[in-house]
Amino acid sequence: MQTEGRHVVVVGAGPGGLASAMLLRAAGARVTVVERSDRVGGRTASFTQDGFTFDYGPTFYLYPQVLREIFAACGRSLDAEVDLRRLDPMYRLQFDDGNTFDATPDIERLTAEAARISPADAPNVRRYLTENTAKFDAFRPILQRPFLGMRDLVRMDMMRALPLFRPWLTVDQDLKRWFRHPDLRLAFSFQSKYLGMSPFKCPSLFTIVAHVEYGFGVYHPIGGCNAIPRAMARVLDDMGVDIRLNEGAERIEFEGRRAKAVRTAHGTIEADAVVVNGDFASTIRKLIPDRLRRRWTDSRIDAKKYSCSTFMLYLGIEGVLKDLSHHTIYLSKDYLENIREIDAGLAPKEPTFYVQNAGVTDPTLAPEGHSTLYVLVPTGNLSGEEDWETLAPLYREKILDRLSRLSGHDIRPRIRTERMLTPADWEAQMGIFRGATFNLAHNLGQMLHRRPRNRFEDVDGVYLTGGGTHPGSGLPTIFESARIASKLAARDIGLDWPDGFIPDLDVREAAE
Ligand SMILES: Cc1cc2nc3c(=O)[nH]c(=O)nc-3n(C[C@H](O)[C@H](O)[C@H](O)COP(=O)(O)OP(=O)(O)OC[C@H]3O[C@@H](n4cnc5c(N)ncnc54)[C@H](O)[C@@H]3O)c2cc1C
Repeated sequence: MQTEGRHVVVVGAGPGGLASAMLLRAAGARVTVVERSDRVGGRTASFTQDGFTFDYGPTFYLYPQVLREIFAACGRSLDAEVDLRRLDPMYRLQFDDGNTFDATPDIERLTAEAARISPADAPNVRRYLTENTAKFDAFRPILQRPFLGMRDLVRMDMMRALPLFRPWLTVDQDLKRWFRHPDLRLAFSFQSKYLGMSPFKCPSLFTIVAHVEYGFGVYHPIGGCNAIPRAMARVLDDMGVDIRLNEGAERIEFEGRRAKAVRTAHGTIEADAVVVNGDFASTIRKLIPDRLRRRWTDSRIDAKKYSCSTFMLYLGIEGVLKDLSHHTIYLSKDYLENIREIDAGLAPKEPTFYVQNAGVTDPTLAPEGHSTLYVLVPTGNLSGEEDWETLAPLYREKILDRLSRLSGHDIRPRIRTERMLTPADWEAQMGIFRGATFNLAHNLGQMLHRRPRNRFEDVDGVYLTGGGTHPGSGLPTIFESARIASKLAARDIGLDWPDGFIPDLDVREAAE
């Protein structure tokens, strides 16, 4: 096959789009990235206001291995491009009664932390981590390959992993096998919030997220998580990839069912393959007409379940808050009620929330003698009845009251600059369907072959990457989706794929 001059258009410069562009360029394609906004990073973008720099979205960077391999495939080093700091403690959980739990990867200290909460459960910490390591090792290859049909569900690696999977259990139920104290179960399960899910509903498979933290670390990139997409854009620039900001894709043009070009306000860009990275639920219906979509019709997309949303406060604060951890999660007294409210599309009355005080690790984010505080409150998405325009200022007061009480700092008089983002803003400003910041929910009915597939099955020549696709939301998982989508695209258009990205067998089988 003649591959010289193969051209791939990537729609969206979020983490998944940038990673796909890197890999496809490394495999020999000409690549053009079109991005609707004026910056790279998508939800992993940042903004600077009055000298304070804030990440919009991600603040926990887990499992850098995947991106390290992507950089290596391009002849670059992630660690040379981004200054990654491993945190210990990784984060602090603070319960409503003031008790705290510092999550550390040091097992002796972790066991001592667990013993402060429940001496009877503490010996199980090591056993639980050991089992969870085995579970992660069994599932990693499964999450690294495409799920293009039922056949992929019955492959040998899936069968071997099944006994560890326990699909009939939720994360919380699985943890009951180890921990009787509910606070300890919460300490090892609140991570399902990273997927926008509740531990009482999230499939037990996702206890592996805790393993990713304890086994591989929680990292802070100096400059914030946005340092990652910025580094990727630099590498792409060096590789000769054209990143066009302020140029949104309006539609994909087809000949029959085959994608042939991407139409933007500035013209038509011919493409041998199109990789779509924009929010799946909102972007795909804009780019591909409903009549061409057999499976993912508008009505089917509407009927899916979506993750929670978030209410955000970004605060530039006078003073250095030395006693406030880099990451603190304040857990409300009635966590179950919180989840019930979020599932009903509401803003919790006594919310659990998360605060990042990155200044304790990173002096680059605030002027000297000042701090940036990033406050994230999980809320219902826009499927509920909340009127965010009315609620937002009142909710701000509630959160500032709670933050001041629980952190022991009177925050209000110290605010020098601030910005607020509501679920309605995530939809209006960032194009996120229903403001569901973590995309389609990660329940069993919407995972693996039932999630939007990386080779989009409704048409030819379109590939999907990003949190709304297989394997799911979260940066390492999204980079995995980019590897799978790029490899499928590369194979389909006849590019050479450098060795060692993911096992060749996977894509050979997927292409049959
Ligand atoms: C508040 C919040 C906190 C999070 N915290 C974490 C965390 O701590 N750790 C973690 O690992 N993950 C976290 N995530 C989840 C996830 O890692 C990020 O959301 C990530 O940025 C998603 O990447 P993506 O590849 O799906 O693309 P997105 O970030 O959604 O980017 C998609 C891009 O496509 C562009 N686009 C859309 N439509 C078009 C079009 N028609 N034409 C051109 N461009 C288009 C958009 O402008 C955007 O730039 C968080 C998310 C949020 C919102």
